[in-house]
Amino acid sequence: MKKAPHNSTKELYESPRKEQNIDKYGDDSSSCICCGRPMAAGPCLWVRMNEAWEAVRADIHEDDFKTKTGTESQGGFPIGSECAKRMTGYTIKGELERSHPYLINNPA
Ligand SMILES: [Zn+2]
Repeated sequence: MKKAPHNSTKELYESPRKEQNIDKYGDDSSSCICCGRPMAAGPCLWVRMNEAWEAVRADIHEDDFKTKTGTESQGGFPIGSECAKRMTGYTIKGELERSHPYLINNPA
């Protein structure tokens, strides 16, 4: 795996409960990328990953991915607010368009 220069990337936090949560709620693009918990549609934080599966610092522009991290962007993934605390400086504000199916089927 290529190492990115300039501390532009960081290992993604992975919750010890991720596997358990994915078993329970299913693997879905509206789950938190770190812990697999269902997320609701609306404003949330995103973490951008490169092809080496490293989180990319928030201040790096999409166009500079290749030069600053050595790999292409894989795009953004939603991250829950608790997990985001472990990725400070690596999250950007965004919007989740679709709620996790678990939340749709089990409304509060
Ligand atoms: Zn999480």
